[in-house]
Amino acid sequence: MAKVISHNISKSQFILGIQCTKALWFYRNRPDLKTEIGEAQQVLFDQGNEVGRHAQDYFKGGIEVESEYWDIDGAIKKTGELIKAGKSVIYEATARSPEGIYSKIDIFKKVKGKNEWDLIEVKGSTTLKDYHVWDMASQRLAFVGAGYKIRKSILMHVNNGYVRKGDLDIKQLFTFQDCTKEVIERQKHVEDILPDLLKVLKKGREPSVDIGSHCDNPFKCDYKEHCWSHVPEYSIYDVASGKKLDELLSMGILNARDIPEGFSLGAKTLAVKSYQDNKVIVDAPTLKEWIQKLEYPLYYLDYETVGPAIPKFDGTSPYKQFPFQYSLHIQKIKGSKLKHLEFLHTETTDPREGFIKSLIENCSEKGSVVAYNASFEAGINNSLAEQFPKYRNKLKAINNRMADLLNPFRSKALYHPKQMGSASIKAVLPSFVPGMSYDNLNVTDGQEASRLGSLILEGDLEEDALNETIIKLKEYCSQDTLAMVKLIEVIYSYISK
Ligand code: SF4
Repeated sequence: MAKVISHNISKSQFILGIQCTKALWFYRNRPDLKTEIGEAQQVLFDQGNEVGRHAQDYFKGGIEVESEYWDIDGAIKKTGELIKAGKSVIYEATARSPEGIYSKIDIFKKVKGKNEWDLIEVKGSTTLKDYHVWDMASQRLAFVGAGYKIRKSILMHVNNGYVRKGDLDIKQLFTFQDCTKEVIERQKHVEDILPDLLKVLKKGREPSVDIGSHCDNPFKCDYKEHCWSHVPEYSIYDVASGKKLDELLSMGILNARDIPEGFSLGAKTLAVKSYQDNKVIVDAPTLKEWIQKLEYPLYYLDYETVGPAIPKFDGTSPYKQFPFQYSLHIQKIKGSKLKHLEFLHTETTDPREGFIKSLIENCSEKGSVVAYNASFEAGINNSLAEQFPKYRNKLKAINNRMADLLNPFRSKALYHPKQMGSASIKAVLPSFVPGMSYDNLNVTDGQEASRLGSLILEGDLEEDALNETIIKLKEYCSQDTLAMVKLIEVIYSYISK
């Protein structure tokens, strides 16, 4: 368990505390309640670390304050020693104010010819967010309080307008935003709030805080599993917000099942009614109209993509998704035997051109291309068409044949009460096709698939792990296209009822 100094608070703990004082108290006192880091969070952490490494490359010649993460006094001492030794760029410099807030700074840069410093905070995001200002303001307080003369507070973030051509251009990869003015203004608020948060930490038990939208804003709280354990699977929090939510809370209602008839929930009213009556919604004419537009043979298509923060190949930008895998089930006529084709790039080279060639060859030229949330696959094809203009027409032709299977489910032309408001294929499939779900697969969502794809492209897997990963990814992606085959069968069955 982390060693902590009870009368002090780190910058990150301060940020946690302004989201929720209870979360801050749990962080310091009940680590056992914390939910384990999920795949999505892990991907973000990994990307953040990678961005941080490149930011240090931008300011070459700097020196890092190396210390155990809990040894704040040691880090402060080392920072002082490096400054004394005349270092002008220090990574992870650390300071603590007498008020009790301590912070590290990614890049601590001396202003030439002056005894002043710039605080440069590195973020993996592509824009300035409000919590960044809190972050930088608490950081500034720590350094100013420690006696440093601070000139600017600067946010260094990823420039998503950068398109890689040849070697990685570190100067283009980042963009800088001088946030000094707003940070100084926000610093006063930090000073006001800080004593209250320090008081919370001295308490013997957690403060009383109700659950609400703050549990997901700006970040999903790590203690949700604990605080939300009494909330039913489909609750008022899924279907109402603002005044409507308050109204339901004041009526003592938590379960969506208990919402009184006639209580308007706008677009969500229908889904709640279906849940309460346990009744499938079927709009047969709309389903018929949708399915009649399909042209056989059908090509059920699904992509897996990666979008690294640091663009890896020519023509890609930070976070720009590109594909490394597809699955394709082909059905010549209604109800006929399926043919399965697939592509999975298993090397560290650029997967895009091989992907495009294989896709064009296997999708042939006639028949509807069915995808679930087709705008995603179509968007990827559009990007590929820009990056590889010689395949432009053929990729556009595939897009012109696309039919979005999400539409009949999103519009509730067909809706199952077990979907509980979600039109995601992960909710729709097991609702209509019991026994077929993603629960038993080794990869259960696109984020995990993306993480595995990145491991392959980075060459981070030994042979055995690579072979295992290939099996997992093939199994997952083909489940998505097989799911679509089954859902089309489901639509036919409801039309003929
Ligand atoms: S789940 Fe919500 S109420 Fe509970 S600690 Fe987190 S933010 Fe606070």
